[in-house]
Amino acid sequence: MSDRLCLVHYHEIGLKGKNRSTFENQLVTNLNRALRGTGVSRIARISGYIVVETEDRNATPELAARIAQVPGVARVSLAYRCNLDEREYCRAAVNVMREAGDFCSFKVHARRSSTAYPIHTLEMNQIVGEVLCEAFPEKKVDVHHPDLQVVVHAVQGSCYVYAAFTRGVGGLPVGTAGKVVTLLSSGFDSPVATWMVGRRGAICVPIHFSGRPMTADDSEYLTQDICEALAPSGCIGRLYVVPFGEHQRQIALTVPQDLRVIMYRRIMVAVAERLAAIEGAKALVTGESLGQVASQTLENIAAVDQAVGIPVLRPLIGSDKMEIMERAEQIGTAEISTQTAPDCCTLFMPKRPETHARLSAVLEAEALFDKESMVDELLELMEYRDFDSCPSYHPPKCIRARHTELLPAGYRTDLDQRS
Ligand code: ATP
Ligand code: MG
Repeated sequence: MSDRLCLVHYHEIGLKGKNRSTFENQLVTNLNRALRGTGVSRIARISGYIVVETEDRNATPELAARIAQVPGVARVSLAYRCNLDEREYCRAAVNVMREAGDFCSFKVHARRSSTAYPIHTLEMNQIVGEVLCEAFPEKKVDVHHPDLQVVVHAVQGSCYVYAAFTRGVGGLPVGTAGKVVTLLSSGFDSPVATWMVGRRGAICVPIHFSGRPMTADDSEYLTQDICEALAPSGCIGRLYVVPFGEHQRQIALTVPQDLRVIMYRRIMVAVAERLAAIEGAKALVTGESLGQVASQTLENIAAVDQAVGIPVLRPLIGSDKMEIMERAEQIGTAEISTQTAPDCCTLFMPKRPETHARLSAVLEAEALFDKESMVDELLELMEYRDFDSCPSYHPPKCIRARHTELLPAGYRTDLDQRS
């Protein structure tokens, strides 16, 4: 009788004027990529929604949950689509109510986007309301504060009927806000920071500094898993990995102990800035939050920022650890981040890192080694792996041929199994 499909609702923010179709088209493109292999047959725009249809005409809550993870999606409803026929949409409304779970009161909200349909919305409300009152005598009608709203929407010769919805992650479609390079460790914070800028529409190109060859490569596997976990959101373009261990050893031998961490960070952001130039990215992103660890002070942040000329975004600067952990759970990176692996940050750590670095002392220490050559060498050592989840990501041509690939796509880490 009727098809089951997903209706995607998106925020109206940023949708004014010419932006609107760019936004909608990007969201359709991103949904197409995110839903590959799920039996989806068509994704199309209709009257303020995006409709996702499946080959079997029977969309599931699992499909709705998957759609909800895509940035730009405000809500997803599992809807029935039937002909613009009174009996058909009333039957669909009864089904919707039956499937709605626990509720006491309801209201019918009829909408009409096709004026060709002669029945007015007030009349549609009445027709459907009467049928529902008869079918569910124990439920109360409440037009002001209903527990459940049954929407009956007449659009282009069809009628869409739905009630419940899954909340989406919101934000803007990836690809509408440019590109960023995100400094990604396997900790809790930077995956969340990456996801947050991705949710605001940025294409993310993570860069990870491992301790190789002075440590094992476990942190590289973990960051690959993190990118894999973030991939359903469609924000990850390519992961770059830089084996930093040997150069860290050189820094540790050269600069005063208390300034080592700042120096590692300055080198990391300098390499990331060069990568940003190659990739055409306009900002860097880190997972720092003010005062979270002794090194994340305003003085240290300033000393790191001074090493680069492009903006360093810190989306978590005002977040508490608890909030960050909750978000990490929600986006599926928390479990990976609980696994510990030595990376460049655990290597050659000083006993007492400087917490309030003076820029003059930092610059003096930096003059003790050839920073530019070091950055060049690290860029030469860089490896990458592509994540085929972001349709707006276009790899830079100049780097393609020169660098080896990391592990093949689809590789899953299980540290226990590997060891
Ligand atoms: P995270 O949980 O993201 O590791 P953290 O609280 O452990 O953060 P730090 O280790 O001080 O904080 O790192 C601060 C930020 O520096 C990280 O959020 C990340 O953006 C960046 N960073 C740290 N280590 C690395 C690394 N090995 N590779 C790339 N970026 C890193
Ligand atoms: Mg860390």
